[in-house]
Amino acid sequence: MNDFFELTPVELTDLLVQRGEKAFVARQLLDWVYKKGIFDLNAMTNIGKELRERLSTFLTFQSLELQRIQDSSDEETYKFLWKLRDGSFVESVLICAENRRTVCVSSQVGCPAKCAFCASGKAGFKRNLRPAEIAEQVVQINSWLMKKGECVSNVVYMGMGEPLKNYDPVVKSVRLLCDPEAFNFSQRRITISTVGIVEGIRRLSEEGLKVNLVLSLHAPNQHIRLKIIPYARKYPLEDIMEAMDEYAKKTKRDITYEYILIDGINDHPDHAHELAHLLHGKQCTVNLIPYNPVAGLRLERPEKKAIKDFRAVLFGSRVVNTCRYTKGDDIAAACGQLALQETSSLPIIRQ
Ligand code: SF4
Repeated sequence: MNDFFELTPVELTDLLVQRGEKAFVARQLLDWVYKKGIFDLNAMTNIGKELRERLSTFLTFQSLELQRIQDSSDEETYKFLWKLRDGSFVESVLICAENRRTVCVSSQVGCPAKCAFCASGKAGFKRNLRPAEIAEQVVQINSWLMKKGECVSNVVYMGMGEPLKNYDPVVKSVRLLCDPEAFNFSQRRITISTVGIVEGIRRLSEEGLKVNLVLSLHAPNQHIRLKIIPYARKYPLEDIMEAMDEYAKKTKRDITYEYILIDGINDHPDHAHELAHLLHGKQCTVNLIPYNPVAGLRLERPEKKAIKDFRAVLFGSRVVNTCRYTKGDDIAAACGQLALQETSSLPIIRQ
């Protein structure tokens, strides 16, 4: 059986021809799936019944089974829980802000990085997602949005998993989403977030892609990073910053640094000074995210004053920064803080 979402349009056409079908059937299938948001062969009415039956013997369309959709109290953030064919679960988050519809996708089941502040890391690592399982999160959510007359505007690889530890499937999923004959999404509207996998950053800078890269920095120095990000042992901050500079130079994309502010860990004004020094002279933006507490982890969000003081130092040093109180805190939808909750008392809008 072949997974539709694993195939580029060229691969799909080749498969159909090998099976004795006409090449134009590929165009019909691509239109139904990507333009009309229909995944059920039986609903593809311009394809004859006998042909649909033949296609169903070697093509399958959905590797993600939607278990439920939860919405946050602000009705701007939706969390989609998917069941994979092997019985594993992953989540995606849809964030609606003004005219943006951003989908945050997972790239692994669990995460091997085990960052101290993260719910996904706490759950441990099970397996990598396949390209189809990643791309399909976006296409299925787009189909859901189409029913409301909307569509996905941005995709961020910031859900469960470290994308650059699942390098090839992640890059293939980007290529699948951006193929002009398929979903035709803009590379510039895709963002990959990494905790700092040096060889992955270097490879990505050679791919010829124009995707945005975000470093989950979270500390102004190697010493603090070691306390909260176990991968810091393998990837020293100095090497990561060098690789990020190379990415910016090769792709001509500005870099964003994410910094989760955690009370008493990395939120002192001295840390802000150190951060400003680290980023001095770089074309970049710092996204500050006040920590979203996770059950079972003894870490706290800083007081508003501490956040204000931290930002004042950055502004004083001319470091461009934003502060994002994560949308959907009540459904644990903060980036890097997705947690699987197969049972929950939160509102479910579809099951
Ligand atoms: S923050 Fe990101 S890289 Fe770290 S454990 Fe969580 S999902 Fe993995």
